[in-house]
Amino acid sequence: MSVLVTGGAGYIGGHMVLALLDAGEQVVVLDNLSTGFRWAVPAEATFVEGDFGDEALVAKVLAEHGIDAIAHFAAKIVVPESVTDPLGYYLNNTAKARSLIACAVAAKIRHFIFSSTAAVYGEPSQNPVTEDVLLAPINPYGRSKLMVEWMLQDTVKAHDLSVVVLRYFNVAGADPQGRLGQSTPNATHLIKIAVQAALGHRNGMDVFGTDYPTPDGSCVRDYIQITDLVAAHMHALAYLRNGGESLTCNCGYGRGLSVLEIIEVVKAVSGVDFPVRLAGRRAGDPASLIAGADRVREVLGWQPKYQDVRGIVTQALDWERRLHNRGAAS
Ligand code: UDP
Repeated sequence: MSVLVTGGAGYIGGHMVLALLDAGEQVVVLDNLSTGFRWAVPAEATFVEGDFGDEALVAKVLAEHGIDAIAHFAAKIVVPESVTDPLGYYLNNTAKARSLIACAVAAKIRHFIFSSTAAVYGEPSQNPVTEDVLLAPINPYGRSKLMVEWMLQDTVKAHDLSVVVLRYFNVAGADPQGRLGQSTPNATHLIKIAVQAALGHRNGMDVFGTDYPTPDGSCVRDYIQITDLVAAHMHALAYLRNGGESLTCNCGYGRGLSVLEIIEVVKAVSGVDFPVRLAGRRAGDPASLIAGADRVREVLGWQPKYQDVRGIVTQALDWERRLHNRGAAS
C-alpha cells in the first residue's frame, strides 16, 4: 500500500513525506512545483510532477500505485493573497479539491487526510477555540478550505471514504535533523520573516497592527512545530487504517503568543536586535487564534515534543542559514 501526498514538495507536505518514509511507508508525491521544490523530495519517494486538479493524471496515479490513503496538502496558503485573489484561491483550494475527492471516490480510495486551517474559525468568540463552534471564516483562504471540509463531510456520508480533517494553527520550525524547512521564496509567515530579518536577509520587518484587543495589541497565534504537526497526520493515518470514524481535529498546543513576543524570542535566540516597524493592520487577520487541542490528544493519541518556542525559532534560524548558503533563499 502507498500513500499519495499532494504538495509533497512543499513545506508541510515535504515533512510528511519524510515522516512516512521514516516509518517505512511507500510514498507517491504529486506536486506541480508552483511553490514546492523537486530537491525537497527524497529519492525513496516516487515523484509525479503535475496538478492535483488534473483528473486524468490523478486517476492514472491512483490506479498505478496501489494507493490506500491520500494526504492532501497542496494549496495556496497566504491569507492576504487570498484577499486580493479570491477566485485563484477558490479555483485551487476548492474547485480542484472537488476533482481530487471525485477521483478518490472513483478509485475506491479508503482514507483521506485533509489539511484545513484555523482560518475556518474567523474571529472566534472564545479562545482556545474548539472544533464544534460555529464556523465563520473572515477571509477567502478560510472559506476556500471550509468548503472542502463540507464537501468531505457530505462525501463520507455517501461513499466508502473515511476522512480526518486537521485544522492547523500556525506552523513553524523545521525538521530537527536539518533535512527540510520552510523554503518558499517571498515568505509572508511571521517566524520566517523575523528569522530573515535577524540574519540580515531583509531590512528589518513590520508588525501588522498594534491596536488589536490583545494584551500587547499585536495578534496572538498558536505556533505549532512542523514535526509535531506531521506526527498528528501519522496518528490520523493509523487511526483511519484501524477503522476510525471520520473526524475533525485542531492542531496546536493551546498556547497563544503575540507577534511582539515572537519577535522578542527571535531577537533573543539570534542575538540580533533587528529593526522592527510598527505598521497598520494586514487585511484578513483575526486578533487571536488559539487551539482547543484536547481532541487530537485524546482521540488520535498525539503527544507533542517540540513546544518550546525557542527551539522552534532555533530550527527556523538553522534552516534559513542553510537555505541561504545553498542560494535558494530570497
Ligand atoms: N505578521 C507580522 N509581520 C509579518 C508577518 C506576519 O506582523 O511580517 C503577523 C500577521 O499580521 C499575523 C501574525 O503575524 O498577525 C501571523 O501571520 P502569519 O502570516 O505568519 O500566519 P497567519 O496567521 O496569517 O496564517
